[in-house]
Amino acid sequence: MFGALGGPRLLLRRLREVMVEPISPQARLDKIVVHIAANMVAEVCSVYVLRADGRLELSATEGLNREAVHLTTMRTGEGLVGLIAETAEPLALSDAQRHPAFSYRPETGEEIYSSFLGVPILRGGNTLGVLVVQNRAHRTYSEEEVEALQTTAMLLAEMIASGEVQSVVVPGSYIALRRPLALSGTPIADGVGLGHVVLHEPRIVVKQLVAEDIKRETERLDTAIEAMRQSIDRLIDSRVMGPGEHREVLETFRMFAHDRGWLRRLREAVTSGLTAEAAVERVQNDARAKLQRRTEPYLRERLHDLDDLANRLLHQLTGQSYVTSHEDLPANAIVVARTMGPAALLEYDRTKLRGLVLEDGSAGSHVAIVARALGIAAIGGVSNIIDFVEPGDAIIVDATTGDVHVRPPHDVERAYAEKARMRARRQEQYRKFRDVPTVTRDGTRIDLGMNAGLLVDLQHVEETGASSIGLFRTEFQFMLAERFPRMREQEALYRAALEQISGKPITFRTLDIGSDKHLPYMTKIDEENPALGWRAIRIGLDRPGLLRMQLRGLLHAGAGHRLRIMFPMIATVEEFEQAKALVEREIAHLRRHGRALPHHLELGVMVEVPSLLWQLDEICPRVDFLSVGSNDLVQYLYAADRENKRISDRYDVLSAPILRALKFIVDKAQAARKPVTLCGEIGGRPLEAMALLAIGFRSLSMSAASIGPVKAMVLATDLARLEPFVAELIAESHGSSSLREKLRRFAEEHTIPV
Ligand code: PEP
Ligand code: MG
Repeated sequence: MFGALGGPRLLLRRLREVMVEPISPQARLDKIVVHIAANMVAEVCSVYVLRADGRLELSATEGLNREAVHLTTMRTGEGLVGLIAETAEPLALSDAQRHPAFSYRPETGEEIYSSFLGVPILRGGNTLGVLVVQNRAHRTYSEEEVEALQTTAMLLAEMIASGEVQSVVVPGSYIALRRPLALSGTPIADGVGLGHVVLHEPRIVVKQLVAEDIKRETERLDTAIEAMRQSIDRLIDSRVMGPGEHREVLETFRMFAHDRGWLRRLREAVTSGLTAEAAVERVQNDARAKLQRRTEPYLRERLHDLDDLANRLLHQLTGQSYVTSHEDLPANAIVVARTMGPAALLEYDRTKLRGLVLEDGSAGSHVAIVARALGIAAIGGVSNIIDFVEPGDAIIVDATTGDVHVRPPHDVERAYAEKARMRARRQEQYRKFRDVPTVTRDGTRIDLGMNAGLLVDLQHVEETGASSIGLFRTEFQFMLAERFPRMREQEALYRAALEQISGKPITFRTLDIGSDKHLPYMTKIDEENPALGWRAIRIGLDRPGLLRMQLRGLLHAGAGHRLRIMFPMIATVEEFEQAKALVEREIAHLRRHGRALPHHLELGVMVEVPSLLWQLDEICPRVDFLSVGSNDLVQYLYAADRENKRISDRYDVLSAPILRALKFIVDKAQAARKPVTLCGEIGGRPLEAMALLAIGFRSLSMSAASIGPVKAMVLATDLARLEPFVAELIAESHGSSSLREKLRRFAEEHTIPV
């Protein structure tokens, strides 16, 4: 039953006028409750704002005692209002006082009101407050009235989210939206970053909530739904998609896009007076509020699907772009994303990037490697962070512990600023011993190289005192480009690298794409197991044109230099021989054309596919050097996807099976007198690197930021003590238990910084 004033649409129009009046936030709230009460023929209308301390504060009322405003508060879960905040569901009662949760507040004078209708004020699935109407008479609120009040609550959510309401709650407290939050995840790239949230996929801001013309909005909604369905159908039907996981995901998607309940709710929201985009937001807020409170993984997955659909619809309706424009990246940006590939991260301006927080993502993923290469703090596995942050929020990423602080209180921020300063000071110290030779306490020389992939990385060679570039990931250039880089472009990069760090060796790895490193301009083939699929040298040998072009670029650039080329993912001796034959063909071609050649050419393989371990006797004599790709080798040895955060803690590299396998490689290489290095991420972690020295590695290549800490470890290590200790540890280990703690204790007892 709506009042003579004309139902929800008129109410929305009135409220919209109130929203833009130049009055104080309190006056605005006071006016809003009067309008709502009048329109809904209720004697009472009250707004409760949720504060950061978890209390709901009566912030405006029409009908209850005015003196109670800002005095009456209740906890979430306490009373009917607290119950609504807790469940995020509307509650309509004709006899409120008989409800078991009813709690009597004498100061409000509410005892004379029998019926009660309350709805949560929601934004992004988070409760910001509660909106209530009450009547003296016993009455049943209609579905339509509940809907109307929910729609009105959206306007209040906007007002609260704008920050305006902050001045309304009692001094000294914060509204919940600005509540400091501490979340945690798994560190994937070391560092401490302080800055402001940038959403990788920006949430669409719906500016106009109230419809001018309902018929038109219904048509807009229908057109957008149809367009969205068609785009999903096209994706499913396109030849690019084979059977398999992606297709299943899209099929589920298609199912939701035709879900009657979802569509009905969208239409109803438009009929109640919202614009099409506001309707999408409104329905999605409800779904989030409900699903977020559920713990079943499949329901949370469903929430992701629904979120994606809602996002697609909003993009259709508003025409706003999908990704954050990189141009207006604020200084000290901390990028927050559900998931992200390495290429997307590389597109950000690294001079402004301070950190990365992902809902997915594990330490072995390529986006993690890129984060380390860029030297930014990164944390993966932070569940639902997207729902809790707004662009521009202050945020701290502590990737030394995995802690993320959103909207941190001042003292936390001060403490972290201090921590960041301390780390900078330590980096300064590392820089000081840049020129100190890297030798163990008992005089063994250790070679510390750097992993790179972009020109900007090269400056770090000088800064860190790295002895070489042990791994140059050539695919980064390909991942950044909009089309295949031409041979000249490839050559220019290789030449610049060789010239910039002349005198120090660079090991160029040929294109290692496939798995999670896919090129935007190359048709993505759908494979059941991309990590075991068509990647790296397999693509290179099947598409020799591509590999030959790269080899030619390398040979051109290497003219007059020492050139080292390494092939990734070699699984058989034959693969190496085929790759080598391509190099020889290119050399013959250059000779025929009288071109200058490298004065020294070395060819090597990455040892990262387990089958190669059993061909070391054959491969060693054929290559000039070996480089262990422990990231891939470990994932294949344990059959544990390096990208999968669910299993990333299950096995420890510091365990006998892995250390034995790695020692086996070193021993074979030494027996064949072939240099061997390790360029996986474990080489850059001081404790792991210490274990690698113990089993015989004398050369490691790592991200720039790791060189200082690893060097500090080397300088403090006495191999004569370490080697027998680790040998015994491995020999006595049963099964695959972690040796981490024992190694850490050894380091501690011998004051080795790890
Ligand atoms: C590795 O696999 O250890 C490696 C260094 O290569 P990437 O991480 O690029 O696969
Ligand atoms: Mg690899």
